[in-house]
Amino acid sequence: MLGALIVGCGVLGLVVGSFLNVVIYRVPRGESVVRPGSHCPSCGTPIAARDNVPVLSWVFLRGRCRTCGAAISPRYVLVEALTGLLFAGIAARLGESAVLPAVLAAVATLVALAAIDLEKLILPKRVLYPGLALATLLLIEAALVDRAWGRLGTAAACAGAWFILFFLINLAAPRALGFGDVRLSPLLGAILGWFGWRYAVVGFFAANVVGLVVGVALIATGRMSRRQPIPYGVFLAVGAVGTLLAGPVAVSWMSGIR
Ligand SMILES: [Zn+2]
Repeated sequence: MLGALIVGCGVLGLVVGSFLNVVIYRVPRGESVVRPGSHCPSCGTPIAARDNVPVLSWVFLRGRCRTCGAAISPRYVLVEALTGLLFAGIAARLGESAVLPAVLAAVATLVALAAIDLEKLILPKRVLYPGLALATLLLIEAALVDRAWGRLGTAAACAGAWFILFFLINLAAPRALGFGDVRLSPLLGAILGWFGWRYAVVGFFAANVVGLVVGVALIATGRMSRRQPIPYGVFLAVGAVGTLLAGPVAVSWMSGIR
């Protein structure tokens, strides 16, 4: 039964990842994510359904457009495969849990935001707000199903605490951490907080330690200048999703060092 859930969520992740590619490409360009349908960015030919199967079509067409032969960025496959793997991993971790849909919604939002942040150094509200709204509704639904009002309360408290912390960090170091990251923080605080305040604390440190280590490494190796803005949203997403996946291990490690 768990196996079927993991495979099902993995396939769902591939399909969602395919949609996230559209979001990642179009939202920063101010285009609609609904219309027109997918088309080759090089020749503009609409992409037929048979050529739009996640991962498989790209492999079958050897990464080229069927019509004009232009190379199609492997980024599309990477986003699909990553979303599929993350969905399967979260399903394996949580099993048949009422909170699973909320976590998957949050993870999908984070994949899209991290990819856009990496490329454009922005976290668009047009992606964040729908994702935040969906994850919040699904958390409330999970609380209704499980009568888990305590968890929902902790999630709300952690969302508030993350927001205040990030707001203060942004005040102190606006160049390191932009206001987009402040806007993103309640989603991360809420989804981690559902699993307990320890998760929210571990996630907070994981996100910031990842950011610090990668940032210092990039500056030290001369790949980045000290004044260059950092795509901090990527580190926040990696830290939060990593904490969700590592779950009990990360939290018991933290309890051990107290
Ligand atoms: Zn083409």
